[in-house]
Amino acid sequence: MTAPKSTALPDYRTALSEIVEQTIAPAATEIDRTGAYPRAALNALREAGVLSVLSATEVGGGGGSLADVAEVVEAIAAVCGSTAMVVLMHFAATAAIEAHGPRDVREAIATGNHVTTLALSEAGSRSHFWAPMSSAAQAGDSFRLDAAKSWVTSAEEADSYVWSSTPVSAAGPMTLWLVPADAPGLRVAGGFDGVGLRGNGSKPVTGEGVLVPESARLGEDGVGLDIALATSLPTFLIGNAAFSVGLMGAMVAEAAAHLTRTRLTHLDVSLAEQPVSRADFARLRTRSDEARAFLADTLLAVGSGRADATLRVLQVKAVAAEASTEVADGVLRLCGGAAFRKELGVERRFRDSLAARVMAPTTAALQDFVGRASLGQPLFDEVSA
Ligand SMILES: Cc1cc2nc3c(=O)[nH]c(=O)nc-3n(C[C@H](O)[C@H](O)[C@H](O)COP(=O)(O)OP(=O)(O)OC[C@H]3O[C@@H](n4cnc5c(N)ncnc54)[C@H](O)[C@@H]3O)c2cc1C
Repeated sequence: MTAPKSTALPDYRTALSEIVEQTIAPAATEIDRTGAYPRAALNALREAGVLSVLSATEVGGGGGSLADVAEVVEAIAAVCGSTAMVVLMHFAATAAIEAHGPRDVREAIATGNHVTTLALSEAGSRSHFWAPMSSAAQAGDSFRLDAAKSWVTSAEEADSYVWSSTPVSAAGPMTLWLVPADAPGLRVAGGFDGVGLRGNGSKPVTGEGVLVPESARLGEDGVGLDIALATSLPTFLIGNAAFSVGLMGAMVAEAAAHLTRTRLTHLDVSLAEQPVSRADFARLRTRSDEARAFLADTLLAVGSGRADATLRVLQVKAVAAEASTEVADGVLRLCGGAAFRKELGVERRFRDSLAARVMAPTTAALQDFVGRASLGQPLFDEVSA
């Protein structure tokens, strides 16, 4: 089963595979070692139009689908998790801007002149992104935003943040804003030194008295959660699953290469010729392929408007994230001390694989959403004011 491919797009795939091979893969180890932001990769991807695949053709973009997002993120994640996460967040924020943002920003994204990201998670409500605590208030002709955002990928590097707050005056849990990253009052309030994805630049950002015009609001006051659920969330969930699938595919390939080229000379066999190693490898390969097949089915469901499309979208990130940590741990064991050291690239991917399950919506939250959606309950309880 293969996911439907977009046919309307200019061929970004050739450029993407060249950039992956020539720019992203060679930098991955050093980005992991130093935590440097993957600027060279981003520049190459912008110039090649890869960051514009989700933008509509009417603003000069590729007019691509979520299948294209998945394809791009998977290909990058196979070689560098940090770069893939930066690109994924750009696409997730782009989805909201495409639906509700101003034309000039949409055109800037479509021409590769604007990188964006999501600023939803907050110090107060943590991974419960559906319940922002930050505020928005009318201030003359403008709106004043105050917030303590806990994680913003590409903080200081992106041109804008898709930013959540409580509503100004409407009922509802959330309003969304498009905040320029250079707006006065914004401050990057810490660094990033995580176990994995070390170059994704996810830092806390505070906003104190940030003034934005009414045109910065994405959609109506109070309906930001609905907008996020319809735009950024599916893009993020599918793209995040593709991220895990890309990582897993690379780890399984590393394991296969290691097992077939490494020999037990006293027995004159390769590691792959040992039945236990072979069976372990088969289990990991199958787990990885299960997640890939689930992602392909999700894309088919979304692409064809199948009745279970929403359910699949709610399931797919957790399916792939949990599989990738299991596969990463299994590959680390299977390849032994060689994988424990940095020479195979397995331990970097193992560390990178740990992020997906705690990124909001976390696996725990998604299990609850899937239960609620399957049992005819609303996704969220009412949030008390
Ligand atoms: C690499 C990386 C990049 C990120 N980039 C961004 C970004 O660009 N933009 C953004 O907005 N956010 C981003 N985040 C933040 C992310 O989406 C989560 O909000 C964050 O990881 C949650 O961490 P926390 O410690 O606040 O989680 P907590 O909310 O404290 O959760 C900790 C654990 O408890 C579980 N848990 C929480 N509540 C419940 C419950 N009610 N029932 C059962 N279990 C529960 C969670 O599932 C989780 O496993 C990023 C995170 C990472 C790791």
